[in-house]
Amino acid sequence: LVSVSGLAKSFGEHEVLRSVDFDVAPGSVTVLIGPSGSGKTTVLRSLNALDVADAGVVRIGDVEVDFAQRPVTKRQVASLRAQSGMVFQAHHLFPHLTVLENVTAGPVLAQRRDRAAVDEEARDLLRLVGLEEKAHAYPFQLSGGQQQRVGIARALAIRPKLMLFDEPTSALDPELVGEVLLVMKDLAAQGWTMVVVTHEIRFAQQVADQVLFMDGGVIVERGTPDEVLTRPRTERARQFLHRIL
Ligand code: ATP
Repeated sequence: LVSVSGLAKSFGEHEVLRSVDFDVAPGSVTVLIGPSGSGKTTVLRSLNALDVADAGVVRIGDVEVDFAQRPVTKRQVASLRAQSGMVFQAHHLFPHLTVLENVTAGPVLAQRRDRAAVDEEARDLLRLVGLEEKAHAYPFQLSGGQQQRVGIARALAIRPKLMLFDEPTSALDPELVGEVLLVMKDLAAQGWTMVVVTHEIRFAQQVADQVLFMDGGVIVERGTPDEVLTRPRTERARQFLHRIL
């Protein structure tokens, strides 16, 4: 479903990604791990065209953008962005909108879909994340975990082909992490294609089909959770895992 090749990105002199390649099979879960600053977030933001890469080809479904071909047009950015729903570390919900309105804003305002149909679908999504009864609450009335679950429902509402998660639990109190991971496990079990940046190694072990270990802007190791997390081949991966476990 996803294919990334030769992805490169610098911020000024700082080379953040240096030729990153990977594929994501439909219905599979890819977990990206690695030290702070290794480029994980920039990979996700490039998939979603929130960052415009300097070089490399990103294909999601039938949309393909070659970032070396300048200029990258607004239309290309928009078509790539429409392929994926992104869940951020902090939820970025609209504070003045209810939970339901937060979930429907994308489909109604950006995709111009019919409000009644979108409302119906949004209620289904809120049920999926266990928040049906909070439809008319405002974000400030929710716990951090509930806010993140609304963030997940909102990302799903645009009917993406792919879900991207950027450390979705790292800003949460420890007792709220589990409920968000549970929703993510449900999505994986339902066959959603997901790319997840996380330090939750247990989640990676249980849910990932593929683990990518990044360091210094490149993928240093890749394989099954067992290969990368249990039997890492490189000293860099061993040290990283030793630090976070
Ligand atoms: P973390 O776990 O801390 O989020 P990461 O592996 O996700 O780390 P990135 O966020 O992709 O790493 O960042 C990689 C490097 O790029 C960092 O050194 C960061 O400071 C730098 N960087 C990211 N975005 C920008 C930007 N907009 N301008 C300048 N430098 C940036």
